[in-house]
Parts: sequence; C-alpha cells; structure tokens
Amino acid sequence: MKITGQCHCGAIRFTATASPDKVAVCHCADCQIMSGGPFRAVLPVPVDQVELQGSPKQYVKVAASGNRRAQAFCGDCGTQLFATEADEPKTLNFRLGCVNERAQLNPVLQIWRDSAMPWLTELDGLPAHTRGRDSPLASS
Ligand SMILES: [Zn+2]
Ligand SMILES: [Zn+2]
Repeated sequence: MKITGQCHCGAIRFTATASPDKVAVCHCADCQIMSGGPFRAVLPVPVDQVELQGSPKQYVKVAASGNRRAQAFCGDCGTQLFATEADEPKTLNFRLGCVNERAQLNPVLQIWRDSAMPWLTELDGLPAHTRGRDSPLASS
C-alpha cells in the first residue's frame, strides 16, 4: 500500500510503498525511552521503496553487540521518523506515529513483551474522554 507521512512541523515528509502486514510493536527499554511512550510501533520499508524530502538528524545507537542503528528525527520539532542500519541503510523502520495511514496498520507482532508495561491491558477499562480538551489534562 501507499503510505505518506511527515514530522510535526512538516520540514520532513515521505511517501513509500509498504507491506501493511509487517507492523511490529516493541516494548524494549530503548524503545520506551526514545519514543517517550510505553512502546514503539514500527513499519519496516525497504529503502528503495521510500521517497524522503528533507534532512533528518540522526542519533546512532550502539548496541552491546556493536550493532549500529541510526535513529532519524526532525532536528526542528523532534518527531521520531525511522531507524535504519547506520552504515548501509537497507530497511527504514518507520515510527508508526508519523505515518498518516497508521489507523489501518494493525500490528502483527510484539517484541520484548516481557518488558511491556504491566498496565497496558488495563487501558480499555479507564474513563475515556473523546476529546483532549475535555480531559483533566487539557491545560498541560
Ligand atoms: Zn519537524
Ligand atoms: Zn525496541
């Protein structure tokens, strides 16, 4: 399927052709810290299927194994865009949050489930405000 996306300020935009059955959710500590959320959802796309406008900044994460992953983000607004092989990009793992079609891209896999937040499954039972401005947190 065709996907489109952009960072929050719009300085970086992309279009790509992606397989919709490849979305994964990762609960590892690095994904929690770098995403700012309880987990990170990613859509892998081969680099030759991607058209990117703008120049993301990169933070290279070095794993204990020596594996180097470039984490690309907008240097102006800070939106996380994708991660890829730092030395020779082959696959861009797009952050689902910046993909416009994200509501149709259901995850098919969970990674590092053991470090998932223990309260994730309880969210459906919480009070739900349909709009952010009606919520007690609206002014924050
Ligand atoms: Zn931006
Ligand atoms: Zn992870």
